[in-house]
Parts: sequence; C-alpha cells; structure tokens
Amino acid sequence: MTPKNTPTQQMYPKRHLLAASGIAALLCLTLLVYPSREVEAKKTFINIELEAQSLEEVTEPLTNSESVDAQTLSTTANKPEIDSFEYKKDLTVKNGETLSVLFERAGLGNSLLHSMLSSDKEAKRFTQLKVGQTLSFEFDENKELKSLSSQISTLESIHLEKKADSENFAFRKTVAQTQTHEKYAQGNIEGALFAATKKAGVPYGLALDMANIFGYDIDFAQDIRKGDKFEILYEEKTLDGKAVGTGNILTARFTNRGKIYTAVRYTDKNGNTSYYSADGSSLRKAFIRTPVDFARISSRFSNGRKHPILNKIRAHKGVDYAAPRGTPIKAAGDGRVTLAGRKGGYGNTVVIKHGQRYQTLYAHMNGFAKGIRSGSNVKQGQIIGYIGTTGLSTGPHLHYEFQVNGVHVDPLSQKLPISDPIHASEKQRFAQYSQPLIAKLDSNSSTQVALNKQ
Ligand SMILES: [Zn+2]
Repeated sequence: MTPKNTPTQQMYPKRHLLAASGIAALLCLTLLVYPSREVEAKKTFINIELEAQSLEEVTEPLTNSESVDAQTLSTTANKPEIDSFEYKKDLTVKNGETLSVLFERAGLGNSLLHSMLSSDKEAKRFTQLKVGQTLSFEFDENKELKSLSSQISTLESIHLEKKADSENFAFRKTVAQTQTHEKYAQGNIEGALFAATKKAGVPYGLALDMANIFGYDIDFAQDIRKGDKFEILYEEKTLDGKAVGTGNILTARFTNRGKIYTAVRYTDKNGNTSYYSADGSSLRKAFIRTPVDFARISSRFSNGRKHPILNKIRAHKGVDYAAPRGTPIKAAGDGRVTLAGRKGGYGNTVVIKHGQRYQTLYAHMNGFAKGIRSGSNVKQGQIIGYIGTTGLSTGPHLHYEFQVNGVHVDPLSQKLPISDPIHASEKQRFAQYSQPLIAKLDSNSSTQVALNKQ
C-alpha cells in the first residue's frame, strides 16, 4: 500500500485539451465579429492550420488575425500545398510497449533512440515506462526530433533536448514548484477512526500521522468511542490551485472520551523536531501502545494455567489484532530487527530488539515493508509489514508479543517508559510558537460550529 501517493496524472494532454477549447472559443468569437462570406474563408484556413501545426504554435497567429483585413484573408485561404506533418506528437504508453516501439510509432528509427540514450547517462530514465504515461515528441522545422519529454509524477517531468550545435541530447529533470498553505479539518467519530478521517477529507497518510502522534496516549484499537472528535491543522501542497499532496501536521487536537489531547509540532534550537502537548511535555514515548491503528483486539494476553483435569496449559503470550489484509503494522519503538522471515507457526515474523531489556514480535504478516530485514534499524512508528494470515492462523490478524528481560508481558498492561519534555530554556520559545497555532484550531472550530448552525 502506498497511502500517501496520488496516482500519476497526465497533465500534458489536459493542457492541450484546454488549449483546444480555448481555440474553439476564439473561433466562435471571430464568427460573431465577421458574419460575412470572407469569414468562411478564414474558417477554412484556420482549420487546415490546426491540423498542420501544434496547438500552441497556432494560438499566436489566431489572436493576431482579428486585425487582418478581409482581403488578405481570402488570398491566404487559396494557398495551395498544406504541410500535414505533425510537429508535436503525444503518444500514450500502452501495455507491453517499449521505448523502441514508441519511437517506431513516432516515425523514428532505432539508431536515433540509441544515440539519444547514450548521449546522457540519465537518459535511461525514459526506458522506465508505465502504462498510461505520455511521451511528447517535438520536431524542428527540418522535421527532425528536437526534444522528448514526459511527465513522470504529478510534479516531475523529464526531458531530452537536442543541444544547439551537435547531434547530442541533454537530459533535464524539472520539478513543478508547489505552494504550501495551512488547511484545517475536523471530524466526529461515529464508528471507526478511519471512516471519520475519510469523511472529513483527510488523506489516509495524514490519518496515519495523526494516529502516530497520539498513539502513545490513545489506544486507537480499543479506546475510541462514538462522540470522540479530532481537529487538525496541516500543510497542504498545491500546484496551480489544485491540491497535489500534504506536508506535516502542525497541530492537532483529539477528544477521547471527554479528555482533550493537544499536539504541536515543534523544532527545538538544536533542529530536532517532535510533537509536544500544549504544556510542552513530549508526546513521544519509548513504545507505542498499539502497533496497528485500524484494528480490533480479537484475543487478549493470558499466562494460562494447567487445566486441573486435562493437565494441558492454555496460554496466549500476546495480543491479537484483527484487521483487513494489507493493513500496515508499525514498529512499537526504535530498535534493531533481529528476524524478518518465516518462523514456524508464526508465519512471516518480525522480531525487534529495543535496547537491552525489551523485545517485540509481530507474527502472521502478509509481507514485510521495503528495507525490513535482519540487522536493519527501525524507527518508532515505521511501517515494518502488513497484516496477513501466514503460519498457523485462521484469518488476517497480527499476533503481537512484548518481552521484558526475556519474559512475556501483556503489552496492554505494560507501563510504558516516557521520554523528555521541552528543555526549560526553551519553554518561552515553545509558548510563543505554539499558542498562535492552537488559537488557529480554536478559531477554525468556532467557524465550523457557526456554519453547522446555519
Ligand atoms: Zn495470537
């Protein structure tokens, strides 16, 4: 799952559609201004030109032509030979197509492709094609390829452009400049947290961030109640006024069973960024209480005892969290992975050692997150794998174990170690920064209440 990524959008074709509709509008306008026979001639001329040239090139002469008198128009209309060569070709990658196939479709040979790819070591980026991606071929007046461009993500484009006085091409990557502004969202919890964040228009990745921020104090698997509510102020990134992504949560407030938790993102004088409560105490603790955010407890910890008659021990040395297959599982604390692989009835399992005393185990995973292997270091809250039902398991769930000095303990009753608050010397600086931010939550929520009353 890649919750934060939005699907790649083909922006080039959209822009062309816009250009085309703009020209159509211009045509209508000119028809209204010149309701005579000469206009018919002009119309023909424009239509032919439209086919002959790229849309962008034709925009310019069109606007100028409004001042051209009817005499000139009728003579230009009689111009005999029309060049039907397409100076710009946008080709969309279809299933199974390679760059060489697309060059063929553009009427270009393999030798040109090879010389282009060898002229810059980054040029091979063009060979990593995705179905639906658009390649734009542009030609010069000699009908020779002058540039090849493609949008590879919402913000990034790659280009190969012919150098001025050589046959070589230069690679260039451009990143569209986004604008960041603050956005407010709030929601009331009816059932699941995720349903409420979705309803409030909060992207999945941001909902996970919020669950991480409050994950030390609120157990999102068992503490959430109807009537709980959340408010967040976060960074939204836009391009041409359209939302293209989110940044950080700046401040958030979560009301859980009547108790209000506030979090403020703050960077201290040493450049360390963390979330703090309104009074400056740290929200970050050595362990988070639940390694899955959107789950329910399906089996609790029990040390078991010998059955008096059967003489069998029935124990469950961990907690089970049921959730749909693919739900992310997070590392409960910073540590080092000592196992990421198959472990008998546990199926796909991750074991993390947290310092000398603590160890956590995550079993029955569907698969491991990228980069998770024996020996790798993990950060608290980092996704280590996904819910599955591998090993001895009857349905998708996480079996989670917590050990202190080699002894299994109930993770839900574990007294969690707490980390440091803001340093005394920074209290004032923190207050100056955090108070206006929290005030924004207050003003937004009162506006919301007023709107709801209307
Ligand atoms: Zn279990």
